[in-house]
Amino acid sequence: MIKIQNVSKWYGHTQVLKDCGTHVAKGEVVVVCGPSGSGKSTLIKCVNGLEPFTQGTITVDGISVGDPKTDLPKLRARVGMVFQHFELFPHMSVVQNLALAQVKVLGRSPDEAAARGIALLDRVGLRAHASKFPGQLSGGQQQRVAIARALAMDPICLLFDEPTSALDPEMIGEVLDVMVELAQEGMTMMVVTHEMGFARKVAKRVVFMDHGEIVEDAPVAQFFEAP
Ligand code: ADP
Ligand code: ADP
Repeated sequence: MIKIQNVSKWYGHTQVLKDCGTHVAKGEVVVVCGPSGSGKSTLIKCVNGLEPFTQGTITVDGISVGDPKTDLPKLRARVGMVFQHFELFPHMSVVQNLALAQVKVLGRSPDEAAARGIALLDRVGLRAHASKFPGQLSGGQQQRVAIARALAMDPICLLFDEPTSALDPEMIGEVLDVMVELAQEGMTMMVVTHEMGFARKVAKRVVFMDHGEIVEDAPVAQFFEAP
């Protein structure tokens, strides 16, 4: 589903990705970890075209991300992304947040989009909060809204960039629970996280990055084996 081959990226004279390669098959979860500044966030943003890369190829469901002919907004609509800081629109209600891109990008009617939004809020346990504004919700609730918003686009895969790193410890579990459920339902996911309990539970492989390089890419059992 996601194929990353020989990807390198420079910011000016600084190389932030060095010949990175990995893949995520349909229905698999791959966790990306490594020290701060090692390029995890940059790599995952390259996958849906949020960051350009200098060399190499990335395809998602056979579509080449770096190809100038690729319609990136269209691709992004199908490759859901969940960020560390939720990135919800603060001046719109929760259900409006969920409906917006469905209407603008997928061309759904506002009623249809709202209905789909409500169904997904139900699924993440937030139906009662549909008309609230993001600022009225806890961090854990906002992140569950962000996941519901990604799901509303009927994504072919989901990318997560440290989805629990900005949360108070007591809210991490509720977000991971939703992610585990998605993984168990067969959603293809590439997840930057330090939550190794999550990795053990649902990941197929763990990719470890350091200084822009993928230094280990191993099945989860092997990754956690004592050296
Ligand atoms: P991680 O997600 O592993 O913490 P990042 O992908 O955020 O790492 O960053 C990798 C490296 O790229 C870091 O050294 C960071 O400072 C650098 N970097 C990220 N974005 C930019 C940018 N827009 N311009 C220059 N350097 C950047
Ligand atoms: P996150 O880790 O939440 O993805 P960061 O705080 O690393 O975000 O970066 C926020 C923004 O700043 C990103 O768009 C990133 O590309 C940019 N950035 C990060 N490091 C640098 C850097 N050294 N120089 C310029 N821009 C950077």
